[in-house]
Amino acid sequence: MKYIHIPKILKIDFDKPVPFKQQVAIMFTVLIISCLLFTVVYFQQLFSGNIATVTEPEVLQSESPKEKEKSVADTSHGNPTDRNDEKSSPNENSKNTDLKNANVELLGSTTIVSKSYDDIYNGELILVNKDYSCHSDGENVESIFEKKSDSYVVTDKYVSMDTSIVENVNSMLDDFYDIYGESDIMIACGYRSYDTQVGLYNNEIGNVGTEMAEQWVAPPGYSEHQTGYVFDLDLDVVGNDGINYEGDGKYAWINENCSDYGFIIRYPAGKEEITGYSEEPWHFRYVGVPHSQYISDNGITLEEYLDIIHEHKSDSPALIEDDDGGRWCVYFVEADETGDTHIPVPEELEYSISGDNYSGFIVTVKLG
Ligand SMILES: [Zn+2]
Repeated sequence: MKYIHIPKILKIDFDKPVPFKQQVAIMFTVLIISCLLFTVVYFQQLFSGNIATVTEPEVLQSESPKEKEKSVADTSHGNPTDRNDEKSSPNENSKNTDLKNANVELLGSTTIVSKSYDDIYNGELILVNKDYSCHSDGENVESIFEKKSDSYVVTDKYVSMDTSIVENVNSMLDDFYDIYGESDIMIACGYRSYDTQVGLYNNEIGNVGTEMAEQWVAPPGYSEHQTGYVFDLDLDVVGNDGINYEGDGKYAWINENCSDYGFIIRYPAGKEEITGYSEEPWHFRYVGVPHSQYISDNGITLEEYLDIIHEHKSDSPALIEDDDGGRWCVYFVEADETGDTHIPVPEELEYSISGDNYSGFIVTVKLG
């Protein structure tokens, strides 16, 4: 042991009492060695992604997408201080977008459902915009002329929508009528076929030129109206020319409460760079509760919402509370491009599966 130099003060003669100075030196040395060891272990764990900065109760874990980017491997922590900073950030696009993580045990026992790759093109959460075209064309739509309530009118008997959303439209506009006694609301347009869009698009280009036209009218195949989950509101007034609905005055009630019925304002002001369209307060899109309420309450777009949901796989589902206190688990399963995708779903709980139109499936589970 000659090659290890031990300072004289640390050499202990066990036959004599240890002087006070030496005791202090030994304690100090042990403390330094402990700190060094702790630092080494800490950094090793930090770089391997195993360190949680704040531990929260398992069911109420929470983290923002930004934090998730920083620590992809860890799904069990969140930093409340960072979240508060984010909320006060001048970047409006990132405010309040943190989602809670649900304990996977809330789903109970699960089974597997298989979906083909083409199934990603269907469902109420499909994203259709200037990047992603619509693959369906009226397969599940029907005229609402015979099914609509008396609380509103339609431009003609051909106004159609996906069969699954007619009840929600009736219920929302019935409630509006009950409050305000106004029945001048008109659904100007619902489902629009690919062929109809071709005519509309070419006509608009002829009127205002391509650049202006593209701010308002989608190229054929890229219109959300082709999904059947969309409608435009107008006011049934004499001399009606173009859309008169602005969602203001008493009509603001519809725009403020539509999310309770599963709808969102798809093209809000200030989000033009994300949606690709100028503000359209008359254009409503069905995505269903709780998605509509989360999107509306947090002032985000469908594009931003899907980005957040994509971070929550089946082993770290998001926990969303709707405005009535109901709890939902939502998670994303990436589609297998080479064959069927196997999606874990709960055996005992009610759930729905929607494609996102570009990469996979979103499972929405209603917790008991
Ligand atoms: Zn529209």
